[in-house]
Amino acid sequence: MAEEKDSMLPPPPSPASGLKYRRIILKISGEALCGKEGGFGIHPETLLRVAAEIAELQRMGVQIGIVVGGGNIFRGLKGASAGMDRSQSDYMGMLATVINSLALQDALEKQAVPTRVMTAIEIRQIAEPYIRRRAIRHLEKGYVVIFGAGTGNPFFSTDTAAALRAMEIQAQALFKATKVEGIYDRDPQRHEDAQMFNRLTYDRFLVDKIGVMDSTAVTLCRENKLPIRVFKLTTRGNILRVCLGDDIGTVVGEES
Ligand code: UDP
Repeated sequence: MAEEKDSMLPPPPSPASGLKYRRIILKISGEALCGKEGGFGIHPETLLRVAAEIAELQRMGVQIGIVVGGGNIFRGLKGASAGMDRSQSDYMGMLATVINSLALQDALEKQAVPTRVMTAIEIRQIAEPYIRRRAIRHLEKGYVVIFGAGTGNPFFSTDTAAALRAMEIQAQALFKATKVEGIYDRDPQRHEDAQMFNRLTYDRFLVDKIGVMDSTAVTLCRENKLPIRVFKLTTRGNILRVCLGDDIGTVVGEES
């Protein structure tokens, strides 16, 4: 059935000139989809706006893999702190990411963007199982690929899933869309004079225990020299700007 659909697809868009990145992983936290900090569920307008920006990027010929979090629905750590078994609780968190993935797929399809959801835990009735080579093939054909269910393993996060998938599909960068402009020397919501870094090394990020992204994900990126750009999702046009190579937010990378 998938092959029949593929043959009906228009050829993938050719890359627009001026693009810095041809293949990327975009990590979107669950919280970003609920429209407000600490909120619950999915905010339809926010979802559509994010989808519209991704659609624009796809039409410019960028190959896009997306990893969505689940924090707007359920987080494993929260369940565990309320007395649940941690693994059980994490599996619930992973299922939450699948709900978000399906919502994002729907919103992208409304924008006429061909989209596949691939899950690290098999749920064949609603999504394809994750198979690396197939994911790459989808990207080459112009599909946006949403990776659901994180890594498929408890005790991990979707940040780590994003780093892992980025390595596997040989993405050129990992874009982490957050609620703040970038990485600061202290919490910008509590300290008015907080300074944003334009650039940060992996080592500094890890030594300073910066909480924007989990350390397992950053370690994986460091070992494979994959640059991470942290930027604000809710600023209109930001997703496009980072792909065009605009120097917004904070880059985490090597020394120079
Ligand atoms: N999770 C997991 N393994 C993974 C990815 C996610 O167990 O590889 C679970 C974990 O419980 C996590 C939840 O899924 O709390 C939602 O993911 P995350 O907290 O990374 O979402 P975000 O904060 O980005 O919304």
